[in-house]
Amino acid sequence: MSVAGSHSGQPLIVTIDGPAGTGKSTVGRELARRLGLEFLDTGAMYRGATALVLDRGIDPENDHAVAAAVAAAKLRFDWTADPPTLICHEKPLTDRLRQTDVADLISALAAQAQLRAVMVELQRAIGRAHPRLVTEGRDQGSVVFPDAQVKIYLHASPRVRAERRAGQFESAGQVVDVNEIEQELIRRDERDANRAVGPLVRPDGAIDVDTSELTFDESLDVLESIVRDQAPHGALEGAANRHG
Ligand code: C5P
Repeated sequence: MSVAGSHSGQPLIVTIDGPAGTGKSTVGRELARRLGLEFLDTGAMYRGATALVLDRGIDPENDHAVAAAVAAAKLRFDWTADPPTLICHEKPLTDRLRQTDVADLISALAAQAQLRAVMVELQRAIGRAHPRLVTEGRDQGSVVFPDAQVKIYLHASPRVRAERRAGQFESAGQVVDVNEIEQELIRRDERDANRAVGPLVRPDGAIDVDTSELTFDESLDVLESIVRDQAPHGALEGAANRHG
């Protein structure tokens, strides 16, 4: 991955981990914007890896072939786009990341130790090039950035998360069954939480936030206060405050 990037100010890594549908990426992205930090969507990287395996006909059960293909794909983000676009073999991947075949295969691939090792290295390299970062995923505070200055664990009830996902699909004009989405989320959480490598866990030292009863704006305000409270002195100097 190309890791070129410009930065100023002292390092500040904020990790947000948690299951799907808690608002990690929507809230995290806006949080980064408010605080003048960059944003890393590591789910997009696992989705990109899964799309690559599907589209190149790689045997998904061959852990070594999967990891080698992903390492060779030169996965990187185009940081000039907002939000940054994932680039794979020099081509942008956008809509492909959210397609059903990708969602169906992703947890099986995300359980593979060799693939995770490739991803952890890529993500740490991004963190070195972009050291003022909000990063979201399942293992960001536990494995990838255990020394992050601020760690957050976001969660919400499966029903609420399914309703949020259904709302996103519906606003994109798709007809969906909220019960089916809920079952799919529960299955994915179980697989993510029970794998041997990089499982979904509440990282040590993470602050727990339950967004079940919170609107988007409320979640954002809670996260912003946590980061302002926990960030080392001076790390957010110059970042606009909530009303600024
Ligand atoms: O966050 P998102 O829903 O896009 O993540 C999709 C899948 O990618 C997760 O269900 C999980 O299996 C995998 N993932 C992971 N580790 C991360 C980010 C995502 O295993 N850091």
